[in-house]
Amino acid sequence: MRPLWRRLLLLGMVLLVILLLLFGLQWLMNARSFQLFGGITNHVETGDKVVALTFDDGPSGNVEPILQLLSKYDAKATFFVIGSELKSRMEEGRMIVRAGHQLGNHSYSHERILFKSRAYVEREVEQTNDLIREAGYLGEIDFRPPYGKKIYSLPHYLHEQGIQTIMWDLEPDTFYATAQEKIKAAVEGAHPGSIILLHPMYDKTGQELQVIEGILDGLTRQGYRFLTVNELQKQ
Ligand SMILES: [Zn+2]
Repeated sequence: MRPLWRRLLLLGMVLLVILLLLFGLQWLMNARSFQLFGGITNHVETGDKVVALTFDDGPSGNVEPILQLLSKYDAKATFFVIGSELKSRMEEGRMIVRAGHQLGNHSYSHERILFKSRAYVEREVEQTNDLIREAGYLGEIDFRPPYGKKIYSLPHYLHEQGIQTIMWDLEPDTFYATAQEKIKAAVEGAHPGSIILLHPMYDKTGQELQVIEGILDGLTRQGYRFLTVNELQKQ
């Protein structure tokens, strides 16, 4: 029998290793600029004053006022839509495409894609891609993971299919509560090549349109133009 202190030391070391593994996994799941397979983009290197506005989720019935705002500022944006939502609101998807914006894939059912089989990932990605094509979008389809989470099977599948993972470098909705704070965070935080994440679709605050307009206005005044993610990457 080993002395007690040696058994305790061993137990402590095992616990430490488990903790480090858990932290590592947590970091990997949420990392915005690293994944195990393929590229991942959270901003674009450019000297030009250009940024990409990206809207996650939906479409959910309020696409029209968003499109009107974008057109007022001659801005293009990228809508990462949920397949099941697009299926029931195909006309909104078509409106986005007709207005010259980008449609991106945000999975079919918006569940966290962690520890899922390849067949599950394939269904989530391909069903949504088919619907995006049905909406008339002809450009390259990028993917944004639901909740920004990914570990193994998702990046593996996307890399194999040559589909890009697009994250973000500014997420004012996550850290701020009021419209003014969100606008300030985006306008002051943006730099050439930024990718800004907003959630105007299920608008719990009733202020997301105001936030979009504040960002469009503030950054336009600084000389910025708003491009789709695909356009931004060609800068
Ligand atoms: Zn989402």
